Parts: sequence; C-alpha cells; structure tokens
Amino acid sequence: MTYSDPDFGTITVTVNPRARRIIMRAEVDGLRVTAPRYATLSDVKNAIDKYREPLKLNQEKAKLHPHHTDEEIAKLRIMAKLQLPRRVAELAHLHGFKYQGVKIQSSRTRWGSCSARNSINLSLFLMQLPEHLIDYVILHELCHTVHHDHSNSFWALMMKVTDGKAMEWNNELKQYHTD
Ligand SMILES: [Zn+2]
Repeated sequence: MTYSDPDFGTITVTVNPRARRIIMRAEVDGLRVTAPRYATLSDVKNAIDKYREPLKLNQEKAKLHPHHTDEEIAKLRIMAKLQLPRRVAELAHLHGFKYQGVKIQSSRTRWGSCSARNSINLSLFLMQLPEHLIDYVILHELCHTVHHDHSNSFWALMMKVTDGKAMEWNNELKQYHTD
C-alpha cells in the first residue's frame, strides 16, 4: 500500500512475512517501508515518526547522490567483468606490464588498487567513467606493479604511459564519485 507524507512524499509499505521488524529506506521521491505481517499501519507510522529526522537527512543525501538500485549494480558488475579484465590485459601488453590477475569489487571508496603481489582490484563503478579515465585508473594500477608508491618515479612512468596526460586525467577523475 502507499500513502502520502508531507515530509517525504509517497510512502510505500510492503509486507514481507520474513521481516522481523519495520525497515525504512529513504529514496529521492519517498520512503520504502518493509513491514512484518503482524505490523499495523499505526506501527509503521510510529516507526517513521521515531526516525523522522534521520530519515529526512537520508532523503536529502539521496537527492544529492542518487544511489544505485541492486539491479543497476548487478548490470555494472556484469559489464565490468566483461570489459575490465580484457582492457587490463591490452594495456599491460601494450606497455609491457606484468600482473597477477584482476578482481572486480564493489568498492565505493576507491576506483582501484594493486596488492603487494601485483594483483589488481578494480571497482565496478569504473564503468560509469569516460573511457580515457577507465584507462587512466587501469594504467595507474599497472604502474603500481613497478612502483608500489606515489613517488616521482611512479609519476614519471605514469606520464610515459599516458603520453603526458597523467596529471590532467588525475584532476579530471577528481570530479567523479563512485555513487
Ligand atoms: Zn595509486
């Protein structure tokens, strides 16, 4: 069922027999509520009132950074697994890098990382970047297989493999966020 709330917009309540408590999630256009079978509408309304202020904050955040649905993340993961390992292989071959393997992760805090054993981890959220920035992140991690730091030697290598564009692309990447 749905009803309207002056703060949140549309409140959509779904009954889930497996739910053990009332779960509320703020979305851009309203609240999604999952309730156990025994919960009444007034239970739901009381729960929303109790958490009204933090839910309002969450909704503000959702408006600033619309988050992905599970389905969108699943699609990004499929694309990432299809495309990123192949691109890493191409760029490694082109510039003569050796690495252990590629893992696709759902990290929101970093685009990529390179382990001490030269295994490369890439965030599925890379798939939302323009192609040259995906390459930039991959080249960054490949350069870490040679220099495991951000020393001058690391950046010199980065400049070499990006035709001098490393700094420009590094700055451009800062405009993007995983969500
Ligand atoms: Zn780095």
